[in-house]
Amino acid sequence: SIGMAKSKFEYVRNFEADDTCLKNCYIVVRLDGRNFHKLSELHKFLKPNDDRALGLMTRCARSVMEDMDDIIISYGQSDEYSFIFKRSSNWFKRRASKLMTHVVSQFSSSYVFYWKEYFGGQPLLYPPGFDGRVVLYPSNRNLRDYLSWRQADCHINNLYNTVFWTLVQRGGLTTTQAEDRLKGTLAADKNEIMFSEFDINYNNEPLVHRKGTALIWEKMEETVTKRVKLPSEDEKEVPVTRFRRRVSACHCDIIGDQFWEEHPDILED
Ligand code: ATP
Ligand code: ATP
Ligand code: MG
Ligand code: MG
Ligand code: MG
Ligand code: MG
Repeated sequence: SIGMAKSKFEYVRNFEADDTCLKNCYIVVRLDGRNFHKLSELHKFLKPNDDRALGLMTRCARSVMEDMDDIIISYGQSDEYSFIFKRSSNWFKRRASKLMTHVVSQFSSSYVFYWKEYFGGQPLLYPPGFDGRVVLYPSNRNLRDYLSWRQADCHINNLYNTVFWTLVQRGGLTTTQAEDRLKGTLAADKNEIMFSEFDINYNNEPLVHRKGTALIWEKMEETVTKRVKLPSEDEKEVPVTRFRRRVSACHCDIIGDQFWEEHPDILED
């Protein structure tokens, strides 16, 4: 019978690799847009930073956070987002491939679903994709260093891109000339080029571009009035206070201690 056959075939299940994430570690899922250099050119993203595209990325990250349990903080910049699961999470029994594929597919379908909210009538020309990876961090210090690393990457890339596109768009250089001009320059040199030649103080550039976006849970107290039935069959209105949480975005420094001191409940002991 087909039932007998099923039990005969079922041994193949044992070929599945065990990818359970080590207990007590923060689980980080980072995704990154596939070939977004091309996608951004084809869809005429403003350079160096298209705020529609950044807004869409953050909308998708919000959707991931709201749909999955146990994500305590997310951080995004350019075409990437990192999602951090609390270290005690037991979602999908901590199976790495389950966590990662849920995050990445939810994010990808959201990117298509919400595209028109950010790009209006401009059509999405092909189905975009994202890669994903899982990394485990055993200590709060390691996790903070991971997030610091991504924010430092945001800073370095944005400084370069800002001066590069200023040289092209306002300085009239070709992209090759701008590349040559910046070869070997240090951060101070880049700041100096922008300040002395274009009157731009890099520190006044928008925070969302310089710092990226961190999404955290904000606890909100909410009071609603509820009708309750009394034993006497009368109805009475009573105020009920409850806590709701909602995702809130900030474009602040997450490298220093201040952010973590202001949000002591993000990391566990
Ligand atoms: P890969 O598939 O290896 O990730 P990639 O082309 O996506 O290749 P990345 O290193 O991920 O390369 O860089 C993403 C690129 O996407 C950036 O270099 C930039 O050109 C473009 N990009 C992403 N977001 C924006 C944005 N908001 N505004 C302008 N350009 C963007
Ligand atoms: P999980 O998230 O754990 O996968 P699930 O609800 O997707 O939960 P599955 O075991 O994957 O559970 O089963 C998919 C279910 O989706 C089926 O049980 C069936 O009810 C429904 N389904 C999928 N495809 C079809 C289809 N073509 N026609 C009708 N129902 C379908
Ligand atoms: Mg890459
Ligand atoms: Mg990419
Ligand atoms: Mg990238
Ligand atoms: Mg299913």
